[in-house]
Amino acid sequence: MDYLPIFLNLQRRPVVVVGGGAVALRKVSTLRAAGAQVTVVAPALDLELAAQAARSELRHIAAPFIPAHLGDAVAVIAATNDITVNRAVSRAARERGIPVNVVDDAELSTFIFPAIIDRSPIVVAVSSGGHAPVLARRIRAQIEALLPARLGAVARFMGERRRALQRALAAPARREFWERIVSGPVASRVLAGDLPGAEHAYGREVLTSTLSGAAAGTGGNRLGEVYLIGAGPGDPDLLTLRALQLLQQADVVLYDRLVSPQVLERARRDAERIFVGKEPGDSGRQEQIHELLLRHALAGKRVARLKGGDPFVFGRGGEELEALARHDIPCTIVPGITAALGAAAAAALPLTHRRLAHSVTFVNGHQDEEDAGCDWDFCADPRRTIVFYMGLGHLEHILKRLRAAGASAEHPAAVIARATLPDQQIVRGTLADILARVKELQVSPPALLIVGNVAAFSADVPGDISAAFVPGSVADLTAPARPAAVAAGALT
Ligand code: SAH
Repeated sequence: MDYLPIFLNLQRRPVVVVGGGAVALRKVSTLRAAGAQVTVVAPALDLELAAQAARSELRHIAAPFIPAHLGDAVAVIAATNDITVNRAVSRAARERGIPVNVVDDAELSTFIFPAIIDRSPIVVAVSSGGHAPVLARRIRAQIEALLPARLGAVARFMGERRRALQRALAAPARREFWERIVSGPVASRVLAGDLPGAEHAYGREVLTSTLSGAAAGTGGNRLGEVYLIGAGPGDPDLLTLRALQLLQQADVVLYDRLVSPQVLERARRDAERIFVGKEPGDSGRQEQIHELLLRHALAGKRVARLKGGDPFVFGRGGEELEALARHDIPCTIVPGITAALGAAAAAALPLTHRRLAHSVTFVNGHQDEEDAGCDWDFCADPRRTIVFYMGLGHLEHILKRLRAAGASAEHPAAVIARATLPDQQIVRGTLADILARVKELQVSPPALLIVGNVAAFSADVPGDISAAFVPGSVADLTAPARPAAVAAGALT
């Protein structure tokens, strides 16, 4: 190692920063976040630094640097853009044996600043030893994405209970206990911001541990839990950070037909993967899924229930939640990007637009004969964007019902299949011709139908598009200026 990483306690310790510009400001902020008493030596100060000095948050010496300014400092930072000043600071500090950092100059420095990931009290520091700061920052960004935002809260939660637990459990059982806390429902609840839930789960863990304490080594009955995760429309980069974090710690993954292989790949390597996709008409399947969820969770496993899109949009997530609640199994719900949002982005088609549509409605397009629950008059207004899920097989029927409710033949329509996946298909047209186009291109599910003014939206239309779409009137759409629309193909 060229440098030894250490963590310095600077609480109420004097630190001198030479320089009063933007670079100095950044260093001052870091030092103050660590509790240091900062003195800034500079003839003039940056606006923000001046404001901090005025609020007595730092001491300002308005003069050119002289060695006497170092006083009893425990560390010195030179952040001027004048190499002779930086050299003088470096020399004076070394002569006095004070650690010194000259910004962007490893040779003049006796210590360097790492890139920091701050989840206090958890802090991660990354350094390239001055060789490649850009690489260090990249690594920092990657770690940022991996560490949950509330990680510090988990550390504090554990810290506050350490002493009490020391009295309750013998040393060999303690470590195992804390392992269960960080990798089980207690940590998940804290990370989800649910402190009462965490407290409840913690109580259960303490109880099982103390009861099974006599049988040392068995580890007690670990509490299982379920993560109800929205996997998004297919592209794995559209997973949320929390989905990714939980996927990488789950022991078992129960996944649907709509979960793409690319998303599944992001799960922990050695996790057990169980396919629970429903084929159409598979009515008893949902109960089997509940049984599987319960069985694994009650066996102490961390179960990821991966569902396409969002779990609460045509996803039966509510029923699974009820089944878990009946058995008091903790559940973390992670929203996902629902297919409508993925498809809209993929087709660059805004679901609402000030001139074109003022509302958006998600409709189940797979309805029984009587169309129970669908208000066709409502859906036939082109200023309303209607997104039909599961509608491809019923496309002809849906189009007929819309026309019967008064929608014009020119009412814009788009079908988007396998949105965000490499083989996505985007088909645009009108109520009159979309069916033929879909057939011609052999579009296959999963696909969404979007109807309403926005389905004809194109940002590339030369001139003012608003002239083409008068809200409520689709009559002018007969001679569209935009490419009328078939774009099918690969997106990489
Ligand atoms: N919970 C899911 C929806 C499940 S219903 C969500 O929030 O997206 C299944 C329907 O979703 C499919 O019939 C199809 O209409 C739609 N769908 C799912 N993924 C899709 C995708 N990648 N592209 C287009 N439609 C999709």
